[in-house]
Amino acid sequence: ASTRNAPGTAPSAGFVQVRGARENNLRDVDVDVPRDAIVAFTGVSGSGKSSLAFGTIFAEAQRRFLESVAPYARRLIQQGHTPQVDEITGLPPAVALQQRRGAPSSRSSVGTLTTLSNSLRMLYSRAGLYPTDAQRLESDSFSPNTVAGACPRCHGLGTAHTVTEATLVPDVTLSIREGAIAAWPGAWQGKNLRDILITLGYDVDTPWQSLPHEARDWILFTAEQPVVEVTPQRDRIAKPYQGRFWSAKSYVLHTLADSKSQSQRERALRFVESGPCPVCDGSGLTPAALAVTVVGRSIAELNLMPLTGLAELLRPTLRPGAGAQTAEPGIEPTDAAVTLTRDLLARIEVLLELGLGYLSLGRATPTLSPGEMQRLRIATQLRSGLFGVIYVLDEPSAGLHPADAEPLVLVLEQLKASGNSVFVVEHNMDIVRRADWVVDVGPLAGAGGGAVLYSGPISGLAEVTDSVTRQFLFPAAPESESAPEAQPAAVRTPARWLGLHGVTRHNLQGVDASFPIGVLTAVTGVSGSGKSTLVSQVLADAVRLALHPDVDASVASTVTAPDDADGDDDLGDSPGAQEPRARVDRITGLEAVDRLVRVDQKPIGRTPRSNLATYTGLFDAVRATFAATETARSRGYGAGRFSFNVPGGRCETCLGEGSVSVGLLFLPGSYTPCPACQGSRYNPETLEVTYRGKSVADVLGLSVAEAVGFLADVPAAARSLATLSEVGLGYLRLGQPATELSGGEAQRIKLATELQRARRGHTMYLLDEPPTGLHPADVRLLLAQLGRLVDAGNTVIVVEHNLDVVAAADWVIDLGPAGGDAGGRIVATGTPDAVARHPHSRTAPYLARRLA
Ligand code: ADP
Ligand code: ADP
Ligand code: ZN
Ligand code: ZN
Repeated sequence: ASTRNAPGTAPSAGFVQVRGARENNLRDVDVDVPRDAIVAFTGVSGSGKSSLAFGTIFAEAQRRFLESVAPYARRLIQQGHTPQVDEITGLPPAVALQQRRGAPSSRSSVGTLTTLSNSLRMLYSRAGLYPTDAQRLESDSFSPNTVAGACPRCHGLGTAHTVTEATLVPDVTLSIREGAIAAWPGAWQGKNLRDILITLGYDVDTPWQSLPHEARDWILFTAEQPVVEVTPQRDRIAKPYQGRFWSAKSYVLHTLADSKSQSQRERALRFVESGPCPVCDGSGLTPAALAVTVVGRSIAELNLMPLTGLAELLRPTLRPGAGAQTAEPGIEPTDAAVTLTRDLLARIEVLLELGLGYLSLGRATPTLSPGEMQRLRIATQLRSGLFGVIYVLDEPSAGLHPADAEPLVLVLEQLKASGNSVFVVEHNMDIVRRADWVVDVGPLAGAGGGAVLYSGPISGLAEVTDSVTRQFLFPAAPESESAPEAQPAAVRTPARWLGLHGVTRHNLQGVDASFPIGVLTAVTGVSGSGKSTLVSQVLADAVRLALHPDVDASVASTVTAPDDADGDDDLGDSPGAQEPRARVDRITGLEAVDRLVRVDQKPIGRTPRSNLATYTGLFDAVRATFAATETARSRGYGAGRFSFNVPGGRCETCLGEGSVSVGLLFLPGSYTPCPACQGSRYNPETLEVTYRGKSVADVLGLSVAEAVGFLADVPAAARSLATLSEVGLGYLRLGQPATELSGGEAQRIKLATELQRARRGHTMYLLDEPPTGLHPADVRLLLAQLGRLVDAGNTVIVVEHNLDVVAAADWVIDLGPAGGDAGGRIVATGTPDAVARHPHSRTAPYLARRLA
C-alpha cells in the first residue's frame, strides 16, 4: 500500500476508501479521501491524478449508478468502463465536469446550457408586458427552437438566404450552354435542366445578358416546375424521358433546406447572400413573441446583452415598490414575476462571480473556450439542488486570470456548503492552497509515477521530500531532485515589430497593437478582455492572408497548420465563419514573417488509427527498421507490411484497430480487445519479425521514455523521441491513440513536431495557454522549449494566464481592463517588469508578486 495519511487523521466514516487501485499506471494504490471537502489531486502530468480521480473514483461511481438503472435505460446512457480496483467504500454518486469543447450544435447557447433561457422565457410568458389585445403566449413561444416559437420565414434559424441574378449568374457574357447559370448542379442534372429549357423553346446559345428580361426572370426565379418530354441533345441513342424543371432559385433553396450532402449545401451557399432574416431581424422568433417586453425590451434584445448588463436591468425591478407604477416599463408586479426574476438574477450573479459577465445568453456554445464551458457547467450545478454527490473537476482554473481564481474558489466552497464533495485535478497552486486536503500523486510520470505520495491537509505536504509539488506549494522548501531546473531569464530585446493598426472585431474597437518579432510575447488580461480575438483570430487571419493572398481565408486556416491532415477539425471551431470578418486598417512589418504556425489544443486526430507514432512521423522510421531486418527481407516484407492501416500485415478480424465493438444492442460504443490478435493489431506472421527482440506491436506499446533507449540506433526516430521527452511527454506510449490524448497533450505533441523540424527561421508561432494540463515543474520544461524556438530566430506569441510563463516572457501585452465592453483595450505593454508596475493593469499586482 502506498498511502501515507497525515498523522492524527485516521480514516473513518466520512471518507471514500480506495483499495488496490491499478487503473493505467496506478501502483496498487490505497488511499482515503475525505467527503464533504474540497480535495485537490496534484502531481506532474502523466503521474496518474486523472487515473485516480476520473479513471477510478468517478468511473466506479458511474458504474454503480449504471448497475442501479434498469437495463433498458442503461443502453441509453454512455457506457462507462469498469476500473481496475479491488474495492471502494463510502462512495457517493459522482458528477464529472470535464473540459470539453462545446457541442458543435449551433443551436446550443449559453442560455440553453445554463437553462437560464427557460427561466427567461417563463418570465416573458407570465410577466411580460403584452400589446393591448394580444393573447398571452406559452413560454415555448419564446424559443426559436419550437414549432410555436420559430419565425415562419427562417424557421427559427435567424438567417435568411436570398438569391439574386448576380449571385446565380456570376458571368453574364456566357450562354446557358456555356454554363451561365453557375448555381445549377453539374454533370447530368445540369444538362437535363438545359435540355428541358430547349424543349420549352428557350435560347441556350445567346449570351445571358442578351436574353429578354422575362426569360431570365422565369428561368432563375419561377416556382413552377413544368414536366416535359425531353429528347436528350447529341446523344442519339438515349430515349426521350419525362423531365421536371427547377428554377435556379428553387434548386438552390431546396438544396440548402433539404440536401443530406454537406458538400452540396456548401456549394449552394456560394450562390446566395446570407444575412439576418428580415422578418425576425435574426432572432429566429415570431413577431408576436418579439412584441412582448420585460423591462422595456424584447427577449431577443436581452439575449444579445452581456450578462452584466442583463443583471443591471433586472436588479431594480426587485426593489420594493418598483414596477408598481405602470408608467415605468418593468415587469408585471405579480408574485410570480418577482419570484422568477429573483431566481434568474441569483443564477446570473453566479456567472458574474465566475468572471463570465461578458457573455450573452445567445452566445453559441461552439464559440466558447473549454474553460468558459466548464465554468458555465459549474455554475449550473450550483443551482441544481443536488447534494451528497462528488463533483470531479478537471483543472477548473484553466483559462482563468489570477484575478478570477478567488471567485472560483468561493463557488467551489458553495458547492461544498450545499453538502457535496469537490474533487479537483489542479495545477494552479493558488487554488490547491485553498483546498481542505491534497492527494499528491507521483513522483514522476507514467511508470515512474502511479503512487500516492501524500494524502492529507495541505500543510503536511511540506514534509514529503519526494514530492515534486512540494516546492511549488512551499517555495521555501528545497527543490526536489526530480524537478527540472528553472531557467535563468535571458533578456531579449526586439529589433523589429509587426503592427496591426485599427483592429475592429468583437470588443476590440480600432485597437493598434505592436507585436515584437524574434522574442517571446505573452498576451494577458482577464477572461473576455479580447486576447483570443486579437491573437487567435485577428493576428492569425491577417498574417495568413498576407502569406497566402491567393487562398480564401476560410480555407487558408488549414494551410499552414501542422495538423492539416485532419482539417475537418476546423469546422466545429470556426463558427466565426458567419460573423463579419475582422477589420484591420493597416498592417506593417509583415516582411519579418514567412510562416505561421498555430500550436493549438485541437485533437491531432479523431480515430484510434491516428496515434502518437503516426502523427509525429516516427512510425515511418520504425516500419523501415522492421523491413530492414533479416527475417523481413528473407520473407520479402516491405515497410507497408508493418502498417496496421493497410491490408498485408494487419489483423483482418479487426482491420488493424486492435478492438472490436461488442453488444451493439445493449451497450453502444463498447469495445473489447480483438479476439484474433489480442489487441496487437497485427497478424501472427508479422509479429514473428522482431527488432532487438521486440515485435512491431511491442514497440507501439513502449512509452516514449522506454523507446529513447530502445530506438537509439534509429536516428530519425531518436530525434522525435528526444523532443517528445523534452516537452514532458516521456510517459505517453507510442501507440497511444489520438482519441485518448488530452488537449494539452495534443498541443505538446504538435509543439514537439515543430521543434523537431525547427530550423533558423522567421516563423511566427501562436499558442493559446500552452501550460493547460501542466504541473508547474512541466511548465519549466515547456518554457525551455519555447526559448529554443525563439533562440532560433522565431517569434512566439502566447495567450497566457500562467504567471510563470508571463514572468519569463520578453514582452507583455496586457488587455483589459475588464471583460467584454469593459475591455478590448491595450492597458499596458512592455517588459514584464514594466507591466508589473502599471497602475491600471489587473495583471500588474499578480505579476509584481510573482517577480518579487
Ligand atoms: P495525469 O492526470 O496525472 O496527467 P493520467 O492519469 O492521465 O495522468 O495518466 C497516467 C498514466 O496512464 C500515463 O502514463 C498515461 O499515459 C496513462 N494513460 C492515461 N490514459 C490511458 C488510457 N486510456 N490507456 C492507457 N494508458 C493511459
Ligand atoms: P479572451 O480571450 O481575453 O478571454 P475573447 O477574445 O474570447 O477574450 O473575447 C473578447 C470579447 O469578444 C468578449 O466580450 C466575448 O464575449 C466576445 N466574443 C469572443 N468570441 C466571440 C464570438 N465568436 N461571437 C461573439 N462574441 C465573441
Ligand atoms: Zn426569421
Ligand atoms: Zn485483431
